[in-house]
Amino acid sequence: MNAEVTRQIGELRETVARLHAELTRYNLVAWTSGNVSARVPGQDLMVIKPSGVSYDDLTAATMVVCDLDGVLVEGDFAPSSDTAAHAYVYRAMPEVGGVVHTHSSYATAWAACGESIPCHLTAQADEFGGEIPIGPFALIGGDDIGKGIVATLAGHRSPAVLMRNHGVFTIGRDARAAVKAAVMCEDVARTAHLAHTLGQPVPMAQADIDALYDRYQNVYGQQPVAPAGS
Ligand SMILES: [Zn+2]
Repeated sequence: MNAEVTRQIGELRETVARLHAELTRYNLVAWTSGNVSARVPGQDLMVIKPSGVSYDDLTAATMVVCDLDGVLVEGDFAPSSDTAAHAYVYRAMPEVGGVVHTHSSYATAWAACGESIPCHLTAQADEFGGEIPIGPFALIGGDDIGKGIVATLAGHRSPAVLMRNHGVFTIGRDARAAVKAAVMCEDVARTAHLAHTLGQPVPMAQADIDALYDRYQNVYGQQPVAPAGS
């Protein structure tokens, strides 16, 4: 490994360790479940959570580095038991730089029922561009979970998939974006559940969903300031 790759891995170890604290902050995980990974840019490598280590003990040093077949390359612990699914997503989707998995309660309740979350909220249109889709049932081990994630998300606007009877997988251009999608997925799932208990949620027009998604993805947020005189 050259010095630049070593430096990048060091940074990503810090970032991925820190992002795990967001999973506990937003109550997305219980005990040691859930995991975040980041692709090492330009390398067939990823940084991922170790298996079975308490969230309080996750540090940059405890993160592990695997190749995109899920084989441990660097680290003192065994990689997350979901490593094969993360690796499959990175192999199949070159634009993805981060992957997150949780069993967050409300989103996973929809997964338990085998139901997509229909889009009845502007916040869902913004982040997900429509429904949050349900993916197939798949057993852990091998590529089945990864295949189900990719088959559901390829060509879909949503960066989140509800894997049936299991939980949430999210993708992003980097690990932070994937964590944000996991947080927003749970938020939307909770509100959608409450709406369904209150009555019949009101459908949104597809044109409005499209307009919200386009604005949020392309216009919303801090834009570069144009230089004076331009
Ligand atoms: Zn799981």
